[in-house]
Amino acid sequence: MHVALIKYTPDPELTIAVAARLCYSSIEAPRIMEKMSEGQIESLLKQLLASGHLSPFEHANFTFAIGGISRACSHQLVRHRLASFSQQSQRYVSFKKLPYVVPPTVEQKPALKEKFEEAVEAAHRVYADLLAAGIPAEDARFVLPNAAGTNLVMTMNARELMHVCSLRLCPKAQWEILQLFSAIKKEVEKVAPRIAARLQPKCMQLGYCDERESCGIMPTRAEMNL
Ligand SMILES: Cc1cc2nc3c(=O)[nH]c(=O)nc-3n(C[C@H](O)[C@H](O)[C@H](O)COP(=O)(O)OP(=O)(O)OC[C@H]3O[C@@H](n4cnc5c(N)ncnc54)[C@H](O)[C@@H]3O)c2cc1C
Repeated sequence: MHVALIKYTPDPELTIAVAARLCYSSIEAPRIMEKMSEGQIESLLKQLLASGHLSPFEHANFTFAIGGISRACSHQLVRHRLASFSQQSQRYVSFKKLPYVVPPTVEQKPALKEKFEEAVEAAHRVYADLLAAGIPAEDARFVLPNAAGTNLVMTMNARELMHVCSLRLCPKAQWEILQLFSAIKKEVEKVAPRIAARLQPKCMQLGYCDERESCGIMPTRAEMNL
């Protein structure tokens, strides 16, 4: 898996703070921007998060290049409707070599890993035979597995990023999407550390775990008698 932040709103935290300040100011945004100090950015972001005034976070966008994840992972990813995606097409791209992802549970068991790889490679051979027989890639792809690798470009604003991380950074989330959002958080840390600090599993904001069984970070509601 590779994740790179390829574009983002310049000064994302300043942009959010200016948008927020404008709501309560008689002066216009360019003037607010000139006067805004680091301390004000810090305290405005804190206030916004504490009060749930989250729309200013929609002004900061982050675009990521994501490579080498499985179609099983990308299928979960693209359910997030407020993000924008461009995904490598299995209709227009035909794969001479099929990139694929082996889950760690399979990786740890050499005999099963061998079977897994045989199955993926057998599917790829049928795919190649179908293409060679003139079947279009859009139909030949039907035989490819969920393990097949894929590349995407994804854009999310900071509000959606916080929301998605609240779901996908849960230690109980599926391992590949958890790994993906852990890598995304590391990329955001480089340019917007205050926003990155808020990319957390939702239990950190709720103060309890809403799963049936907790991973141990927070007790469940039942354990807290809620
Ligand atoms: C642990 C886990 C297990 C899951 N299991 C399954 C499963 O078994 N089957 C399955 O089909 N899916 C499953 N999903 C996917 C899940 O149902 C959501 O489709 C996915 O998490 C996207 O979440 P979202 O709607 O919160 O986010 P987004 O689509 O990113 O939207 C963000 C927020 O915007 C608002 N919003 C967006 N669109 C609308 C809308 N049309 N109407 C009203 N409000 C909207 C909501 O407040 C939403 O939370 C699972 C997700 C998780 C995290």
